[in-house]
Amino acid sequence: MALHEAFMALALSESQKALPHCLPNPPVGCVLVKDDVAVSTGHTRAPGRYHAEADALANYAGSFSDLTAYVTLEPCSFHGRTPSCADALINKGINRVIVALIDPDPRNNGQGVEKLRRAGIQVIQGICEEEVSRFLGPYLRKKQQTKLTGAQIKLRGLNQRDKPAVLSMLADPEVMRFLGPRRALSDDEGAAWFNDALQGPSRFVISDATSDEFIGFCGIKEINGILDFGYFIRSEFWGNGIATRACELAVEKLAHEVDLATAQVFIADDNEASKRVAEKMGWQVVRGSTKDGEFGHYYRIGK
Ligand SMILES: [Zn+2]
Repeated sequence: MALHEAFMALALSESQKALPHCLPNPPVGCVLVKDDVAVSTGHTRAPGRYHAEADALANYAGSFSDLTAYVTLEPCSFHGRTPSCADALINKGINRVIVALIDPDPRNNGQGVEKLRRAGIQVIQGICEEEVSRFLGPYLRKKQQTKLTGAQIKLRGLNQRDKPAVLSMLADPEVMRFLGPRRALSDDEGAAWFNDALQGPSRFVISDATSDEFIGFCGIKEINGILDFGYFIRSEFWGNGIATRACELAVEKLAHEVDLATAQVFIADDNEASKRVAEKMGWQVVRGSTKDGEFGHYYRIGK
């Protein structure tokens, strides 16, 4: 046990090297151990670059058999800007993973650990939990603040006062990965985008039904003569059933105004969250295609 704590303490000190370039991702550290000796370390690099686990794996040239990975935060189970770290650990044939904290990000939240266990990897949780929680405090607080669910939203039109929230969403590479030019927009590009949306309303605004805070967009926009149905939501609000509820509300509203059978939805193949929304909505796949260089499928709205 003392050995686990010593290696986790090393992972924690490694994680401190990640600040500030890792932000908005959490500063995470990873140590690979073989025969009770640390053989590699890694920490979270800038967004889009290696997470701690991938960094430690890349820094190690030896054999991957009988390796234990110490990670301060649960390895990610989802493919975001980078491939899933849980998958990377599985693919390398790591034996055992020791985790200090479960990641409260709703896209992860135990799923990373579950993925490792299902692949036959031994997982031990909670080593140095307190020390790591203290260091990751700002990240944990940010993740725990957002508890709004789909039941608490409404749709409305766009207002001038939504501008700061819209611009910060358009500058978020996680949101923009599946949208438009598929990269974060600059402030000037975002402002131009906002003015267009204000002057030519298309998609509904999703907002908090109580505070009216801007959460995202959902609905139809005519693109090159085609009715394109889609949504995009600030990443702080992902994973709480908001997308599915927004789609339901938008489809209800639009059913009176447009022939939804002529609308199409494009979902990139690696957009797992949107594929789950399509499944819950009962949308049917029409055909595979590429859009803005991404492979995906077009869906038909309706059962
Ligand atoms: Zn990761």
